[in-house]
Amino acid sequence: MKSLQIPVVELPKETEVLRKEIRQFIQQEIESGSIEPKCDCWLSGFSAEFSRKMGERGWIGMTWPKKYGGRERPSVERYIVTEEMLAAGAPVSGHWIADRQTGPLLLKFGTDEQKEFFLPNIAKGECFFAIGLSEPNAGSDLANIQSRAVKVEKGWVLNGSKIWTSGAHVAHYSIVLCRTSSQDPNNRHAGMSQLIVDLKAPGVTIRPIYLMTGEHHFNEVFFEDVFIPDEMIVGEVGNGWAQGMAELAYERSGPERILSTYPLLNELTNLLIEKGDKRGLNQVSRLISRLWTLRNMSLGIAQLLEEGVPSNIIASLVKDMGTQFEQEIAEITRLLIHVNPSMDSESRIERYMAQSILQSPGFTLRGGTNEILRGIIAKGVIQS
Ligand SMILES: Cc1cc2nc3c(=O)[nH]c(=O)nc-3n(C[C@H](O)[C@H](O)[C@H](O)COP(=O)(O)OP(=O)(O)OC[C@H]3O[C@@H](n4cnc5c(N)ncnc54)[C@H](O)[C@@H]3O)c2cc1C
Repeated sequence: MKSLQIPVVELPKETEVLRKEIRQFIQQEIESGSIEPKCDCWLSGFSAEFSRKMGERGWIGMTWPKKYGGRERPSVERYIVTEEMLAAGAPVSGHWIADRQTGPLLLKFGTDEQKEFFLPNIAKGECFFAIGLSEPNAGSDLANIQSRAVKVEKGWVLNGSKIWTSGAHVAHYSIVLCRTSSQDPNNRHAGMSQLIVDLKAPGVTIRPIYLMTGEHHFNEVFFEDVFIPDEMIVGEVGNGWAQGMAELAYERSGPERILSTYPLLNELTNLLIEKGDKRGLNQVSRLISRLWTLRNMSLGIAQLLEEGVPSNIIASLVKDMGTQFEQEIAEITRLLIHVNPSMDSESRIERYMAQSILQSPGFTLRGGTNEILRGIIAKGVIQS
């Protein structure tokens, strides 16, 4: 069996200055009433204005080359920005996908024109992307996608649909995985391509799927004869599967797989300290030590990704363990204190509790279910 190596990352002392700056910024935004912290903020907290302010401060695309609007900062600094935003429950969902995975995808596979146009706009916090992977009969079995683009003069014509597309109603573009040649029974991953689809283009229809919270977060997206210019193909035609897989380690290993319910954990800890509840604090300290370990693993993967080391297996491990941890925070809070979860409550802990309970079923599904991740881990560790 292969052992998995995750480096230990020491955060340089200078990064504390950045951390302070971020905390001050968030505090000002909260005090001025322009943002309201919430759990699951990276998928449920949207503010175009807040994304724009982050762009202004250089906190989006911060590791990218300066010529594409980035700041050429080390990935640990990006990590600090993302973990501070998540810990505070700031509304970062607008730019999250573009910063986390569309940017790195375009840097690796995009044309010069795509990089020059999209990256600076993403880094300004003014260009949002959605992920167009899942379809009604293609979730875990993603290779079963049926959306198809057919070659025409100067481009492609796309037909099909996507489902569970987070934020498509507020995003400007989506990276859509589709078939560009017929299905090959001997190689299910062949003949797929990634297209950049303008979500305002003629033939695109976005229909909401409301959550049980009543919130609009998900969508179905339909494509009817949508014209995609040749310039909007990402990388090589037919190489979409391999390119998409390269995004997965970014998608699965970040602090958002650990910290979705951190505002609740923080609130719970403060309440228990106030009450002097030693038994409760004993339970919470176990959560915090798990959090510390998960965070070190996640930070280690950020470094491996920066060095270009393939990290899909350990990223799957972090996501499996991290999302279970996020879910348990709500359950442990319920066991430790009396709280009436309510989305509209005046009390922060009651709101955070309601948000955590209602969002948490999705934690172990989105970005690949835990059953699928465990298959990847088992095969990766045993076969290598
Ligand atoms: C909050 C949230 C946000 C999302 N955002 C997006 C998005 O922006 N873009 C996008 O494209 N998709 C998005 N998704 C969709 C997500 O990727 C899929 O829900 C996920 O991949 C599972 O697919 P499915 O829903 O079709 O379930 P299925 O694949 O039908 O799985 C149903 C159940 O069967 C289990 N199962 C399936 N196959 C196996 C197997 N081989 N072995 C063991 N168990 C198995 C699964 O683990 C699961 O428990 C989102 C989902 C959620 C919950």
